[in-house]
This record gives sequence, structure tokens and C-alpha cells, in this order.
Amino acid sequence: MKMKQKEELAYSRALVPKHNTLYKIIIAILVVVIILLICFYFALINNNEKPSGFSGEYIDYNINLNTDDISLEREVGVTQMKIDYVDNCNYTISYPEVGIEEIDNTIYEYAKQLKNNFLNIYKSEDEGAPIFNEHVDYKSYLESGDKIRIVFIDNITNDIDVCLSKKEYTHVFSLSNGEEIGSKRAVIDSTNDGVYFEPLEGESNSNFVLLFSGDVIKYAISATNIRTEKNESSDKLGLLEEGEAIEVVSGDLDWETVLYDGNYGYVKTELLTRKKNLHKIVELEVLDRGIDPNKPMVAITYDDGPNPNSTPRILDTIEQYGAVATFFDLGQLVNRYPEIVRREEAIGCEVGNHSYSHKNMNTLSDEEMQDEIKNSELAFIKALGHKTVLFRAPYGNANLKVKENWEYPLIKWNVDSLDWKTRNKTKILKEIRKINNFDGHIVLLHSIYGTTADATEVLIPELIEQGYQLVTVSELAFYKGHTYLETAKEYKSFMN
Ligand code: ZN
Repeated sequence: MKMKQKEELAYSRALVPKHNTLYKIIIAILVVVIILLICFYFALINNNEKPSGFSGEYIDYNINLNTDDISLEREVGVTQMKIDYVDNCNYTISYPEVGIEEIDNTIYEYAKQLKNNFLNIYKSEDEGAPIFNEHVDYKSYLESGDKIRIVFIDNITNDIDVCLSKKEYTHVFSLSNGEEIGSKRAVIDSTNDGVYFEPLEGESNSNFVLLFSGDVIKYAISATNIRTEKNESSDKLGLLEEGEAIEVVSGDLDWETVLYDGNYGYVKTELLTRKKNLHKIVELEVLDRGIDPNKPMVAITYDDGPNPNSTPRILDTIEQYGAVATFFDLGQLVNRYPEIVRREEAIGCEVGNHSYSHKNMNTLSDEEMQDEIKNSELAFIKALGHKTVLFRAPYGNANLKVKENWEYPLIKWNVDSLDWKTRNKTKILKEIRKINNFDGHIVLLHSIYGTTADATEVLIPELIEQGYQLVTVSELAFYKGHTYLETAKEYKSFMN
């Protein structure tokens, strides 16, 4: 086009000396038209770069840009909302309609899937089932020219608004063909402000485009180099000291992308931990039911239940004498007998977690241990509407790895009734009666034996007769001067 202008201008100049005013006017008009054409040409080029800030070519895909919502976190799509309830489950789900049919169908399916997952896990037709709420929110972004990123935030709470799970699901779509390019699920740990990533089913870890934007602080397990590429032989960007904090912007199973002195670098995922402190404070909340801290008290604990035969008998005795105890129940039995667990709590007893399937935690892989944790916690949430405050490891076995994974105060015992061994009412009572002073003690029993239920019928009135207040483990700790316990610490008794 520029070549052509020059030729035309040269031709115009050549004509000027020979002709008069009419030609001058024609030439002036030509020059104006050419200038207008040039302006129009540059205007077109500029228009192709819209919206500003993106590198690469911009193509207008005619999508629903969000102009009403001033929030920058919803750049694309018209918000759609579904609100409903099914049995004990309420849900509010928001999702964007982008305006490209293929993408919108996929987004709708994902939104529906989040609702169905929620109902599959938490829905119960059981009259006494606790109430759960799901709130799905979204963010949407225009990525460099031809991609959009949709982030679903799936937040599940109980009826007193305690967050039970918070997850982010990121989906990246190509605008040119409507296909999904990548997806990722980030699980946001509501209690520890941590974020970790789980690959979605059938997902290869490497094909993911953009994971998650947010400031996640992690800590180096040992001194390690920050690399310029996801490769251990690439250049060093810096050194991370043991325990040093670093901002993580995204990550996969092998490498975390970190922000170091304003530059992006990479650290091996296995060398970063979310745990700043192994020991976290767990506040104890106890109801005022007239316990006198100056009088002796003892906590009786029953493990391995609930059992449909012996546990209700034990609860009958406890109720008859207005006593309480602590039940360290197994998640898989909680799932089977939720009404027994609800009765335990309803009569003032404390319910603690004793794992899902009673495996020796010291022997499990990280993944197996996480399964035990998640499955057991879910069982208690479904039965009671909340997680338990306390954990007792099966066989009392808890090495450092167990303590790192189970973020609970670990409750042991200092009086073993040996009921699991003797299975004999007289011998159980004889073993317990060896103790002269029970004040501050934690007594171990099991709620799965008829003989233990028999012994309980004698033991409870006997201890009350001797002047002991029967309390839960949390009450025992609280009235012996602990307003809080710490995670990854073991407690065998609470004597002051
Ligand atoms: Zn056990």
C-alpha cells in the first residue's frame, strides 16, 4: 500500500506544472482520500489488538464479555444460578454462560457434576441426618487471545456454617474450537490455609495450562535450589534454606512454580510442605454441666465401635447414671450405624476418630493414610455434621509421619482394662480396680464386647459411688487446666 501511495504522489507531482486549478483541486482531493485511507488502515490494525494487554493476535469470537459486573474476576459469561434443596442438602450453584454452545454445554455439565457429587456424598433420607449446604461460585478470565479460564469454587458447609470442604476446579477452553485444553482441581484446606493439587480422573499431569492463581506459602522441608526450569540440571535461581517460606503460584505432582525475587522458578514438589508448624492449637469447647474442677474426675473411653449389640447397652448404662464417656469410633462402622453415633453425642458423650478401618497407621503409605483420614472424617461429618476434635490411633501407634498427616491431638490412655484380651467381666473389673486414684486418668475399654458392656454396668455406679465425676476426654483436659490441646501431641492422662 505504501508503494502505491508513492507512485500516485510521483504521478501527481509530474502533472502539476502542465495543468491549471481544476487539476490542483483533484490532486488535493486525492491526497485527502489517501490520508484517510492510511488512517483507516492503522485504525484497523489497532482494532485487531483489542483488548489491550494481550500479546498475540486478537480474534473476536463474539463471546459474552461481562460488562455489568465490575468484578474483574468475572471477565467472561452471563451468570446463571440454580438454587434448590434435596432432603438434608441445600445448594446454590452459579456458572457462566459464555455464548459458545460447545463450551457452555461443558460448563453446565461440570456445574451439574459438582451438585451431583455433593448430593452423592451428603444426601440422606434419614430423619436425624445433619443438614449440609453447597455454595458453588465461579471466576472467569480471558486468557491470551483465544482461551478462557473458568474456575469453580465449591464450598460445602454444615448447618452452623463450618466449612467442611473447599475446592477449586479450573477449566481452560479454546475459543477457536470450543475444546477443553486442561483442567485441575485444587483442594483448599480450610483449617490450615493450605492448597494442594489433585489430578482429576484420567488426567495427565503434564497437559495442564494454568492451574491456580493465589498466594500460597509453603515451607522447604530441607535446603534446596530454586531452578529456572522444571529440570534438576537447569540453572539455579536461588537457594531455599530449610524451613524457609516461599510463595507458590502453581504446581503439579513433580514441580511447584514459585515466585522468588520477582522471578518465576521451580522447586521439587516433594521438598515443600504446607506445614509451618507441626503443632497447632485446638481450642477445647465444653458445655457447662456443673463439673467441679476441685473434685476428682475420670474419663472412660470405648474404642472400635459402634457395635449394634454392645454399644447401645453401654449407652443405656451411661444414660441411667447421668454419666458420660468418650467413644473412639471407626469410620466404616460409623457409616453403617450412624444413629448409634448420634445417640452417643445426644446424651452428652464425646465422639472421637479412631481411623476408618483400624489399620496400623505406622505401616501405611501417604496415600493410604490420606484415604483413612478423608474417609473417616467424611463418615463423622455425615453422621454428626462435623469432624471430631480428637483422634486415637489404632493400637496407639503414631510415628512422626502419622502425626504430620493426622492433624489432631492424639489421645492415648494410662489405664488399660485389657478387656480386649480377657473378655471376662470379673477380670476386666479386677484389672481396673488395681488403680487407687483415678483422678485425671484415661481408662481404655472397647465398646464391641458384651463382656465390656457387663463390666460397665458395675464400673460406672462404682466410680460415681467413690466420688468421681465421669467426664469426656475434652472435659478432663479442660477442667485440669488445658483450654486447648495441640495437634501431633500425645496425651495419656490429664493429672495436674
Ligand atoms: Zn482400636
